This record gives sequence, structure tokens and C-alpha cells, in this order.
Amino acid sequence: MAKRDYYEILGVDRNADEATIKKAYRKLAMQYHPDKNPNNKEAEEKFKEASEAYEVLSDKEKRQIYDQYGHSGLENQFGGTGFSWEEFMHRSDLNDIFGDGLGSIFETIFGGGFGGRNQRSSSSSNRGEDLQIELSLSLQEIANGVEKTIKIGIKEPCDKCGGSGSAEGKTETCPNCKGTGQIRQIRQSLFGRMQTVSECPTCNGEGRIIKNKCSKCYGEGRVGTVKEIPINIPPGVEDGQYIRFRGQGNAGPRGGSRGDLLVLIHQKKDDLFEREGNNIILEYPITVSQAVLGDEIIVPTLTGSVKMKVPPGTQSGRLFRLKGQGIQGHNSYSRGDQIVRTIVVIPTKLSREEVELYNRLREFDRKRDLKPGKSFAAKLKSYFS
Ligand SMILES: [Zn+2]
Ligand SMILES: [Zn+2]
Repeated sequence: MAKRDYYEILGVDRNADEATIKKAYRKLAMQYHPDKNPNNKEAEEKFKEASEAYEVLSDKEKRQIYDQYGHSGLENQFGGTGFSWEEFMHRSDLNDIFGDGLGSIFETIFGGGFGGRNQRSSSSSNRGEDLQIELSLSLQEIANGVEKTIKIGIKEPCDKCGGSGSAEGKTETCPNCKGTGQIRQIRQSLFGRMQTVSECPTCNGEGRIIKNKCSKCYGEGRVGTVKEIPINIPPGVEDGQYIRFRGQGNAGPRGGSRGDLLVLIHQKKDDLFEREGNNIILEYPITVSQAVLGDEIIVPTLTGSVKMKVPPGTQSGRLFRLKGQGIQGHNSYSRGDQIVRTIVVIPTKLSREEVELYNRLREFDRKRDLKPGKSFAAKLKSYFS
């Protein structure tokens, strides 16, 4: 079955703001919540579908990817197997909506869905933060891809305690939760009596505590530093695109896994070239005599200069294609072209001798029969189709 559009699922329009999206999701979540629709597979699916849509549209980065590439753009985000509840990062929003009877709802309704989360939570709760930087690239750098070294403030594992956060390098089982990282309680909620599971406040869900904290990192197991990171930007990236470098973000506290590094690409304005997808466009001025008699001109490209023949009788606005002189496509083998548009420059300051020559030419021009038309517009279109 084809996947439905996320905006359609939530019933919001494409430029809906965060608050509108949250409101729409809240409405659907209330309607399709499994507790209100016991043993109703369809409601469960709808609830899951709405949650997936919300997961994407409430996340700036994912939404941007979705807007640009649709569902296929998110395949990597959802671990290749599609959305699952483990991917749902907005449980706190659901808490707002349903009160805190939530952990058990997921455990009972979705079975293993959040069950698997238990081991996951201890490792994901101390995952390091994602870092984000902006990077401006020239068209030349974009055309071929580029390796850059960026300097960034980052948290690295503490060398004094080996990342454990403990002065002796030892941790102890949390006495409050007995190492499970969770506190279970029976509570009254909107949906009746239910068991709630919440994070242990003593150990912040980690299951282990530190007696004597490391004096360098104060028990965090990581310290701030400035680091140079080499990153490889693939060719063909676009202005406003994010590139994710997995595991290059902050180290997690106390040996937690690393976050990611997100690089937001900016394309620098180029003095010569205009970008059109993977093609680049250059306007090149030629003189009247070059246009009439033809010539060989030297044309700049992204990788240097090339000779180009201007045939006799070249019109102003004529397009020449320099094959493979454009931008290497992102995730593709093909390379764009460079389009050269010749513009015939009409001289405005003439010597007396030139005036005389043009006067003589005029005698010939009077015999020409020029007709108005729109052939150029059609030609331009066919070039880009
Ligand atoms: Zn330390
Ligand atoms: Zn605990």
C-alpha cells in the first residue's frame, strides 16, 4: 500500500506551524488512542500512522527532508524498516496529552514495541547531544565534493576517569531502582487504574550511581573541548541541505554513545556562474564581429578554462552546451553540463572610422527582410527539458 502524505494524515496544510501540528496530532491521538478503542486494529494503525506523521513533521530536520524528498528521503532515518515505536521521540508530548499513564499503555498495547525500549532507554538516555554547524561552500567545492576540517566545541570522554565519572572508576547499582532505572507505580489516570513506569530520579534512569565523583568532570564522564574534525562533503549538495555525520557529535555522559554532527550547507554566491540543478550557466559577451564572422573564445568553467568555438552567424542568446562541465550529482554517477549563453554586445561608443563602416553596412542591411517571432523562447525551453 502506498504511504499516505504526512500532512494529509494530520489534516494540516504544508506550511502549518508547530502549534497547529501538535494540536492536530493531539486530536487524532485522543480519537484513536488504543485505550478508547480496545481490540480495534484499525484504530491502532491510525494511531501509529498519526504518530509517525507527527514524529516527522514536529522535527525540523526530518520535516525538511520529507518536504524535499518525500517518504523515500526518510528511509535511512527510520532504520530501513520503516517507522516503529522505538523511533518515536515525542513521548513527552503524549504525556502532556494523556497524563503520565503512558509507559504502561505502550507496554500493554504495543507489546514488544516499547518493551524493547527498556534496555534501549538506559543507553539512549545518556546518548550525547547532536551538534549542528553551518558550512558555506563555493560552487567549485560543491561541484566535486570537498574535504573540510571544522573546528567545533564538543564534549569528549573525560580522560581522568576514563569516562566513568567516578573518581575510583567504579559505579554502584542504584539502591532506589535496584539497577533497573525505572520506578513502577499504580496510579489513577484518565483511562482508569494503571501501572506507570517512570525514570528513576536517583540515577536518572541509568541504573547505576557514582559514590565519589571525578574531580575533573564532576561525575559527567565527559568534558568540553574544542576539536578539529575532518568531514567529507559529497559533491552535488544543495543550499539549505543538512548532512548528518553519525557518531561525530557530543560524547554521551558516563560512556554513553555519541550524538551526531549535522552540517547545514550554504552555497556561496558565485560571481560568474548561476546554478540550475546540476547544470551551471554562464553568460559570455561577444562582439558583433565575433558573432557575425565566428571566433574561438576562452570560457571559464568550474575546473579551469576551455576553448570554445563560436560559429559564424551566432545569435545573441544562443546556448552552447559544454558536456560534463557542471556539478557532479549527489548520489549519482552523472555530472551536469555547463551552458554558455552568448550575448552580443552592441558597441555604444564608436570612432569615426567605425561609424563610417557601420554606415556602409547599413546599405546592405536595408536589403534584409527581418521577421518578428518567438523562436528563441521555444529553444530555451527545449534546452532545459
Ligand atoms: Zn572524569
Ligand atoms: Zn535508580
